[in-house]
Amino acid sequence: MRCNHCEKIIDKEESFYEIDGEFYCEDCVEERTITYYTIGGDTGINYEDDETSWHRNINDFMENIKERIELYEKWKKQSENLNGLYMLNDFSEYSRLLEEAQKLLEKSQKEDEEEEWNLK
Ligand SMILES: [Zn+2]
Repeated sequence: MRCNHCEKIIDKEESFYEIDGEFYCEDCVEERTITYYTIGGDTGINYEDDETSWHRNINDFMENIKERIELYEKWKKQSENLNGLYMLNDFSEYSRLLEEAQKLLEKSQKEDEEEEWNLK
């Protein structure tokens, strides 16, 4: 039997992997662990690492967003000095990121205010 990736012969005595109906030698297969986040337990929705961010508290979050907004504004301004297609691509990408961040900041500010209002 041959490894489907490196074509090395896998001996009768050797251990190997079977993945999706193909055989692979020990050298070609690595076990990797991925981190994901689940909302609502075992039947919940899963999110990947890059879709999820953890924050110490609301102020920490808002500081973080404000920094991002400053950065996107800077990048957006810089992209205005580029030419043609590059400028258009970057400008619209940074505009989008900026708008997203501003919405998120508004949302967090609104929820923070509501919280304070409820405490009164
Ligand atoms: Zn192999």
